[in-house]
Amino acid sequence: MITNNVGIIGLGNVGEAVVRSIKSQSALIFRRTLLKLTVKTICDTRSQKRQLSKKYKVGFTRNASDLLNDPQINTVVELIGGIEPAKTFILEALKKGKDVVTANKALLSQHGREIFDMAKKQGKAVGFEASVCGAIPLIHSIEEGLVSSEVNKLYGIVNGTTNYILHQMEQQQKDFCVILKEAQKKGIAEKNPALDIEGKDALHKLCILSYLCFGYWPPVEQVFCEGIKKISLLDVAYAKELNYRIKLLAIAKRKGDNLDLRVHPTLVPMTHPLASISQAFNAVYLDTYPAGPLLFYGQGAGGTPTSSAVVSDIVNIAIKDKDLVPQATEMNLIPMKNIKARYYIRFTAYDQPGVLAAVSRILAAENISIASVNQKEKFSGKYAPLVILTHDAKEENLLKALEAIDRLPVIKGPSQRIRIENFHT
Ligand code: NAP
Repeated sequence: MITNNVGIIGLGNVGEAVVRSIKSQSALIFRRTLLKLTVKTICDTRSQKRQLSKKYKVGFTRNASDLLNDPQINTVVELIGGIEPAKTFILEALKKGKDVVTANKALLSQHGREIFDMAKKQGKAVGFEASVCGAIPLIHSIEEGLVSSEVNKLYGIVNGTTNYILHQMEQQQKDFCVILKEAQKKGIAEKNPALDIEGKDALHKLCILSYLCFGYWPPVEQVFCEGIKKISLLDVAYAKELNYRIKLLAIAKRKGDNLDLRVHPTLVPMTHPLASISQAFNAVYLDTYPAGPLLFYGQGAGGTPTSSAVVSDIVNIAIKDKDLVPQATEMNLIPMKNIKARYYIRFTAYDQPGVLAAVSRILAAENISIASVNQKEKFSGKYAPLVILTHDAKEENLLKALEAIDRLPVIKGPSQRIRIENFHT
């Protein structure tokens, strides 16, 4: 068993969710890694956050130095955002021999090189999975899963707020300003939305991705960046008519030693997977060699989804170099006959009165209720296909019903069945 004590600075949206996740997921983490993770101290300038320390039974301080100077804390998690004092806290933590986890894209895009150099010098790690695309495990996928693949092109919808606005403009046929206000009311856009709508947040993430994919920290101010403020309803409509959708894309293309980096609204062909990324979701499309094209999709923001990336960084850093085998566990495999699903069933039925009644009776006897029946009116010949969609039914019952139906003289068996997946259940 390994133990790791964590200190968290900043108990806002993400910080509190991280404390909650560590508490709720600790058994799962232990089973998978044999790591016992403990939040030792939380730090926030707001004294009302002290209540949280009582709720989660952890130490509280308003002074980050208490946490940085605590020799028992192995990992410092910086979740206050902004440049200073976040930068000083991170450098201090590294100098004191602690690993660091941060979600701070603004800081990394500007001072990433200095921070990673310090980490290297101190032999410590900086986890930054949460700084790009929230819950999507993009950074680990590139660092580890694609360690032998080159990234040649990257196209990312990396800002949920602007994707939501563009999506809703098209859906509701309302202007940018109207949708922005609505997004602010729903908490999807900040009170001051400049960072998002001017493309700066996407730019910060693109800089981090540039380091990750190409090992190059670009000077942020030299990367072209245009936001979505000037996109009108008319543009959205014209794009649609031409079979495109407007998306704010972070783009990176490598041509030998030259790198094309930019953020701007882009017409994406409707047939491309990025065109169908709706609401506040994020997605990153990578063109790689030899892995080929890859698409990453998920929630790019929100305290709870983002906490997953932060906690996975804490865990991965704590268990690195440890040769661990996940614990096996016993579970019950549900037998197929007990699975419940909706079904599409197609019979080839003799075209005469009473067929449907006979089929329905058998289904009802097996407790299967019909959601819809479809029979094409014009179908030449003695036999016609009859398609039935069911509500949820037990596999065992459905098989029995189909056996009985296929024995009916009016049915030319065997019937076809395909399970329907609704995805939300
Ligand atoms: P937040 O809700 O504003 O929380 C930050 C917290 O830190 C606040 O409670 C703040 O208190 C406190 N704080 C500020 N300065 C401090 C200091 N010197 N010492 C101790 N506490 C301090 O921010 P957040 O949304 O959780 O975001 C945190 C970080 O995660 C940012 O870097 C952000 O870019 C990144 N991130 C956020 C999301 C998301 O969905 N929210 C997603 C991905 C990444 P005051 O309010 O009093 O300043």
